[in-house]
Amino acid sequence: MKLLLWAGIIFAVIWILKNKKSSAQADPSKPTPPPSADVKAEAMLSCAHCKTYFPASEAVFDSASVAFCSEEHLRQHATH
Ligand SMILES: [Zn+2]
Repeated sequence: MKLLLWAGIIFAVIWILKNKKSSAQADPSKPTPPPSADVKAEAMLSCAHCKTYFPASEAVFDSASVAFCSEEHLRQHATH
């Protein structure tokens, strides 16, 4: 009878540990979307030609590493 009690305790401990593991795995996946949103918010650049803010991933840089929203504005700024 004691053996049955121990088996029940061991089962409960394994179950608790499994639950902790699954919750620990779920936690890193939860904060993943906000950091990517922060990166998008941080990586905003102002076009030197039209002063519009745009994502840094879409930036076009000239030889002086000045950011532009498009190649068209880079060329228009260079001709001015
Ligand atoms: Zn522009």
